[in-house]
Amino acid sequence: MAEGSTYPEPQGRDQGRLDTGIPHIARVYDYWLGGKDNYAVDREVAEKVIATGNPVTHNVRANRAFLGRAVHYLAAEAGIRQFLDLGTGLPSADNTHEVAQRVDPQARIVYADNDPIVLVHARALLTGSPSGATTYIHADVRDTEKILLEARSTLDFDQPIAVVMAGLMHCIPDEDDPAGLVATVLSEVVSGSYLALSQPAADINGLAMARTGAVMDRLMPAKITYRTRDQVARFFEGTELLEPGLVPAPSWRPAPGADTAPRSVWAGVGRKP
Ligand code: SAM
Repeated sequence: MAEGSTYPEPQGRDQGRLDTGIPHIARVYDYWLGGKDNYAVDREVAEKVIATGNPVTHNVRANRAFLGRAVHYLAAEAGIRQFLDLGTGLPSADNTHEVAQRVDPQARIVYADNDPIVLVHARALLTGSPSGATTYIHADVRDTEKILLEARSTLDFDQPIAVVMAGLMHCIPDEDDPAGLVATVLSEVVSGSYLALSQPAADINGLAMARTGAVMDRLMPAKITYRTRDQVARFFEGTELLEPGLVPAPSWRPAPGADTAPRSVWAGVGRKP
């Protein structure tokens, strides 16, 4: 376990039960990414979405690649050394702490997720470099009070922090005020902090996304909300969007020669002035 790591008891809306009979978004996403941390119920949902013809495996890879590029940019070019990554997901290639601590081993990362299986993997795998720290909070991101309180034991809120919300906000329905959630977190970080956010798009390859939404509505216990560019732009209110703005994920500062075919994910990075 990394120096400074704490693993609080599961709390919040999800009391930490691992139910392998109910599909969960972290494990469905893991299957689409080619991972092995999923169960038959998760694979069934994932395969039904693939069967709609939606190129969802490309979408999730584009999302994951954006996460890596954004964290690398923030650490290597913007000089950020603290990351609050909400909606951790199951460990995959180039997790936030690995990307940031490759740039600077002193980088400090706090993750938060509400899936019990993410908690199990976080305990085993999300270890930081000896000098940095990687901490995991098992909580619902809507419980901002708990997350902000616990994050303070690892992060210095008097210094800039990058708030990372990659592929998370579609799990927060409109009635739970997702823009308010982002605004609450951003109100706690100092000027010069950043928001890196991506969210599945309702308006890129919209027909395929609508078909996917229908499958998810039918089979997933938690409501999934895809959003248009205008709706996602609201999350960045109060920040200055970095170039190239809010764009399909593959177009956010792509590596030279990378495939930039649009995928159904909006992505951007904003700076708190
Ligand atoms: N951020 C990772 C990425 O971009 O590769 C993982 C994205 S995955 C699609 C969404 C993650 O958000 C899952 O791990 C899921 O458990 C987590 N999540 C969804 N709703 C949540 C909530 N209300 N509170 C905390 N975590 C949540």
